[in-house]
Amino acid sequence: MASKARFTVGSHVWVEDADVAWIDGLVEEVSGDELIINCTSGKKISANASSVYPKDAEVKRCGVEDMTRLAYLHEPGVLQNLKSRYGMNEIYTYTGNILIAVNPFQRLPHLYNNHMMGIYKGAEFGELSPHPFAIADRAYRLMINCGVSQAILVSGESGAGKTESTKMLMQYLAFMGGKAESGGRSVQQQVLESNPVLEAFGNAKTVRNNNSSRFGKFVEIQFDQNGKISGAAIRTYLLERSRVCQISDPERNYHCFYMLCAAPPEERERYKLGDPASFHYLNQSNCIKLDGMDDSSEYIATRRAMDIVGISSDEQDAIFRVVAAILHLGNVEFSEGRESDSSAPKDDKSQFHLQTASELFMCDEKALEESLCKRVMVTRGESIVRNLDPRAAALSRDALARIVYSRLFDWLVNKINTSIGQDPTSKLLIGVLDIYGFETFKTNSFEQFCINLTNEKLQQHFNQHVFKMEQEEYTKEEIDWSYIQFVDNQEILDLIEKKPGGVISLLDETCMLRNSTHETFAEKLYQNFKSNPHFSRPKFSRSDFTIHHYAGHVTYQTDLFLDKNIDYAVNEHQVLLHDSRCSFVSSLFPPSEESAKSTKFTSIGSSFKQQLQALLETLSSTEPHYIRCIKPNNVLKPAIFENSNVLQQLRCGGVLEAIRISCLGYPTRRTFDEFVDRFGVLLPEVLGDSYDEVTATSMLLEKVNLSGYQIGKTKVFLRAGQMAELDARRTEVL
Ligand code: ADP
Ligand code: MG
Repeated sequence: MASKARFTVGSHVWVEDADVAWIDGLVEEVSGDELIINCTSGKKISANASSVYPKDAEVKRCGVEDMTRLAYLHEPGVLQNLKSRYGMNEIYTYTGNILIAVNPFQRLPHLYNNHMMGIYKGAEFGELSPHPFAIADRAYRLMINCGVSQAILVSGESGAGKTESTKMLMQYLAFMGGKAESGGRSVQQQVLESNPVLEAFGNAKTVRNNNSSRFGKFVEIQFDQNGKISGAAIRTYLLERSRVCQISDPERNYHCFYMLCAAPPEERERYKLGDPASFHYLNQSNCIKLDGMDDSSEYIATRRAMDIVGISSDEQDAIFRVVAAILHLGNVEFSEGRESDSSAPKDDKSQFHLQTASELFMCDEKALEESLCKRVMVTRGESIVRNLDPRAAALSRDALARIVYSRLFDWLVNKINTSIGQDPTSKLLIGVLDIYGFETFKTNSFEQFCINLTNEKLQQHFNQHVFKMEQEEYTKEEIDWSYIQFVDNQEILDLIEKKPGGVISLLDETCMLRNSTHETFAEKLYQNFKSNPHFSRPKFSRSDFTIHHYAGHVTYQTDLFLDKNIDYAVNEHQVLLHDSRCSFVSSLFPPSEESAKSTKFTSIGSSFKQQLQALLETLSSTEPHYIRCIKPNNVLKPAIFENSNVLQQLRCGGVLEAIRISCLGYPTRRTFDEFVDRFGVLLPEVLGDSYDEVTATSMLLEKVNLSGYQIGKTKVFLRAGQMAELDARRTEVL
């Protein structure tokens, strides 16, 4: 966004600053494009006009509830507004139809109780303070009144408050659409209680969030003709599997493991569990206990929630038996076996855990050991049994733990869906999407790649919607918008998911070839995308690649791409658990359709791409609403607002892009009244009663010689920079 404004001595401005992104001040001298600015911080700096933005001198200290009310819609203005509101615990702000939510990192109970839901019920949108309830209310009302399905898309980086916001939305929708049912489990109750169940198994403490969801979620709430909730479906995306076997300090594994270790004594005995710190899958990190979380009461609460969502007590026992089995499995260590390059449980302790795991899985102990220590290779119809060395056996053990856990999680989601029940007659739904935002870390692997693809797709959807909304506003006001164009991110999407030839296709091809490595994969990428402007090969790198995402450049390390993309249970594990005497365990491993010898190649990348496609198809049949969650600081503490950090998130969340799109058109709108009030001094004759507001507005604009603005039906629409021009004139006159 280049500044096109004109500055005069005395203009209030924002100047770029390396530390705090933007600082404000007054122009003291102007010579051509060079300005001398006296900053409020006391600094005096000179800057080129192109890096300076006009500041609205009249902005209220408490900020505005909707960014589109700002006289200047630009980065520093948006930032300042959020910051001053946050300082007053006003954590919600609109940008047109988007709700921006800044994580307060403190409980604000007065904002979310039943009384508040009552207040938002039926209130005109925009009449009350910005709030997720207002978004949910608008979605609900549009669905009822227009008969159109709705979607609320919540995004933001980890710890920004997506899941908390999602829960509020669901709470409000349950409030509006709940059936007064006597006794039993109502659909809305089941929908709400699915949260604690999925959080127990899919959330964990990470560096970024003590209760981080390690999966994406789309909850589709179905309504009947009368606007009452009649069914629901939950779809989940990409549970992080690696966490089951590998955690790093100070993170934790999934909550359910610690809960089970804190279960009542008779259950702990049944599962031969004790101190969580005695389990390898938990003690790789020093963090065992979480402040503010009581694992034993969480265990009871999770059990209760499982009751409500319709998981029988037998099923619950089996679920926790599997969870315990995974912990024991993790404690099986291997050492050299009798033959060379073979392996066997290291000692009595390992043997004990192996035995316990087999008891809990209800499978044969010897068979479990063999499935870990040996691998059957099938070549040209012949099968050869090969020994695994201790290192390979440990990897096989971890692979087993991961696949069991991910099947368990999928089972839970399916179970919740069948037990809540779908309403096949429902034509109206409200979907709520809680999905990981754009990620860029020091090292980025396949997970970040998938997550960023998701965001790239959602961004496209978002841009198209914002653009459409802008056009609708112009059409309503009967003004011309035909020349406004914008470039979206289709080219980046093609680079990633085009079939054939995109990154995902090339990855699948590489995975299917024998003897391929991450280096051959990287080489393939370098060859194919040599001249693609959205792709680059980092200097001095043999296997990394960089994608120029809409939100910034991300360099991915290909090392684990191949392993992470392949998705099947090795045949030994599949057979072992399918043969379990426990019908629950057996059902997690149904016989594969293909004959056992040709393990069908399924790739995580491609199936994720398909899931995304389906999600976007659903979304495109709905009217979307957006909530962008912002994490104001990385220390997870209240009252700290880090400018540059927030700006980066506004960029990733598309808020700045939405503003850019809006700046291509007429970013500043004022009712005629407001306009004449502010600028009447430029032509005092219009201040009397002689002219109506529309005429007065036109006269004023002619007087200052502006062009390109539009007179709508109720408002005047100004081009970017015109407000600043008017303000400059005004400063001269005053
Ligand atoms: P995300 O899902 O985006 O990773 P969460 O929704 O889990 O983030 O929020 C992280 C933490 O931030 C929560 O556990 C809670 O402590 C705090 N938090 C988020 N939103 C709110 C809110 N509206 N009010 C109070 N605390 C919040
Ligand atoms: Mg979350």
